[in-house]
Amino acid sequence: MDPKQYIFFIITERDEMIPLLHPGQICYSKEDQYIRKAEQDCTVLPVRWLGSAREYDVQVVCLHQLPPLYAALLQALDTEEERLDAFLEKSALETAAALKEGCPVYVKNMEKWRLGVVRNIGNRDNRNDCFYGTFFKIELQTGSEEVWVPFTCVKPASEAPVQAGDRVVFFPDNEKHARRGMVMDLQEENGQPVAYISTDMNEQGEKGGAVTVPLGFVLKEEIHPSDVESMDTGIGMDTGADTGPANSCPISLDSRVRVQLGKGPAQGTVRWIGRLPGQKGTKVGLELDQKIGVSDGMLSGVRYFQCPPKQGLFVKMSSCSLDIPDSGIRDKVPAYTTKQTTLDCDGRPEGENVPPINSEDVKWLLVGRMKGIQGHCNSCYMDAALFSLFSCSSVLDSLLFKPAEPKDKPIQRTLLRDIVNPLRREGYVEASSVMRLRKQLQESGYCATFTTDEKDPEEFLSLIMNKILSLEPPIKLCSRGSVQSSFCYQIFLDKTHDLILPTVQQLIEQSFHSGHLKLAEVPSCLILQMPRFGKAFKMFQKIIPSLELDITGLLSEGPQQCLMCGGLASEECVECFKDSAFSRNGFKYFCQTCSVQVHSHPSRRSHILSPSFVPEGWPQAMAPPRDKMELFAVLCIDTSHYVSFLKYGPGTNDWAFFDSMSDRVGDVDGYNIPEVRLCPEVAKYLEMPVTELAHLQPRDMEEVGKRLLCDAYMCLYQSPSASLYH
Ligand code: ZN
Ligand code: ZN
Repeated sequence: MDPKQYIFFIITERDEMIPLLHPGQICYSKEDQYIRKAEQDCTVLPVRWLGSAREYDVQVVCLHQLPPLYAALLQALDTEEERLDAFLEKSALETAAALKEGCPVYVKNMEKWRLGVVRNIGNRDNRNDCFYGTFFKIELQTGSEEVWVPFTCVKPASEAPVQAGDRVVFFPDNEKHARRGMVMDLQEENGQPVAYISTDMNEQGEKGGAVTVPLGFVLKEEIHPSDVESMDTGIGMDTGADTGPANSCPISLDSRVRVQLGKGPAQGTVRWIGRLPGQKGTKVGLELDQKIGVSDGMLSGVRYFQCPPKQGLFVKMSSCSLDIPDSGIRDKVPAYTTKQTTLDCDGRPEGENVPPINSEDVKWLLVGRMKGIQGHCNSCYMDAALFSLFSCSSVLDSLLFKPAEPKDKPIQRTLLRDIVNPLRREGYVEASSVMRLRKQLQESGYCATFTTDEKDPEEFLSLIMNKILSLEPPIKLCSRGSVQSSFCYQIFLDKTHDLILPTVQQLIEQSFHSGHLKLAEVPSCLILQMPRFGKAFKMFQKIIPSLELDITGLLSEGPQQCLMCGGLASEECVECFKDSAFSRNGFKYFCQTCSVQVHSHPSRRSHILSPSFVPEGWPQAMAPPRDKMELFAVLCIDTSHYVSFLKYGPGTNDWAFFDSMSDRVGDVDGYNIPEVRLCPEVAKYLEMPVTELAHLQPRDMEEVGKRLLCDAYMCLYQSPSASLYH
């Protein structure tokens, strides 16, 4: 009989009227009959089941239509229960339907999975009749034995992601941390193909050990979570035009992603990444936000991750896109980039300018493991500096776009294309990009040890800002009539200071006071190096990073405010600066009248005053405006390792912590896991009364709070006009 003339069904529910009928039975109806009944909108359909000549009127709700090939594959199974299970499972049916003669497969034979090759697909008795079921004739790899098996006993082996000898990354059961090792053998265990892996490190972090891991949990080493995306779409492992996600953000464990389901878009969190047996391409296991999934992290009897029932879903990685709110950064690319039509090798416009990450997007885009800049080989000083300067601030963006000397263009290009843009677009920069920059810096002859040695952030910043990209130094210092420019300012204190728990505001004022310095103009960016001697010796146990730096008093040419009456000042007294009768903050400026009063006091009669800047025509009673800078990042150092804090938004809790080497996978040949995490808890130390904070022992402080206050190395301030949030 010609299957084309028939419509096939599987019984999915019991029809109480027909006791003979069991769920899992395959039945069929003549196509013309079916169409006629369907047109009449009948609730019952006359069907026959295989092996019976009689027709039964079965309720339509008990039937589920099948493609003829599926009916034939299911018919090869022995029992109705098996058929129903296999039908509900579906993925094995889909996989089997795609198998061709010649495909390498795993075949279940005598309760063991073995390697083999498909030699024939059809009926055991050579009866070309789908009612007898479609089987697979498999030639076993060991020996010349051949077996006929139904589709549930076959799994494609062509997708075995690894072979013996491959270096691999794998995801142990319910562990989020990937581990590394080498495949010694491919075996089977409880009916599952598994890789026997000698591991670089065991669960306790000790070297050595061996595990067996289902193949679905194993990836070749060069593919780690941040890479799979580009591999998946880049070399066409997945076919079809829709495989490219809207972005090429690296999707990693715990990434928040969006996926288009039949019912509409859904959001979820990535809980697993890997290959599924018999399926092409990289898959992700999602924990959906809502109960619209199909599992709890199990698939075909294998647990890949754990989540609440009906919230788990396995999808192609390429069908996921990072969940960035619609107001996300992609919409904010300035219009002028559109005029640049030349695309670089990644298909992105040359010179593309991705704006800094908006404070609302930080928690989606920038926070997580494998986020920030991946550290490698003493790169932390550079990672911390680049992350601090560029992720959420545009204050030094002129570095990226200013015309550069031909020999320095590749360096600028690397900085923009390989570091700043991915950081802002995806929240992640891989170690190789920073290494490329280090190599270029080294090869350009500026420094011979850039790829290997640990350096100071200021050395790197000054090299890149000054020598290479010839940026106009943002800090203009005047001292006794002459002006000097600089990129960073090292806070220096003489012995006369009486600070114990200083704020950055107090430190810069003390330093300017003892150095007889003023700022010639408001800098766009003010990078302050905290007072320490080398990396080891700190001058203060704690420093409070002032969120706002009032630089009004530090300016040489700006109207100043009288300390006493608040009007326009005309004199400054450097000796009153240290007078304990006055506030510990701010240089001491006075108007003529108040100065006379203040200096009539016997202890101040000897003070020598200097004139302060008075703008022409400024009304005496009008209070001069205050110039303030805002903190946007703090670089910290602890035992030669640099990390950084971002003050990414206007809220007191808007703090994030970044460590480019937060964790490590593997040993000498492993890689670092960079991490960015929110740390709103540091705010409590900044809001704490100074006396309380002064008595707090570092060992009693929370880890991140301690680092911010005790290990500050560099505080980065920007002019609010350069800020993106205000
Ligand atoms: Zn006054
Ligand atoms: Zn005085």
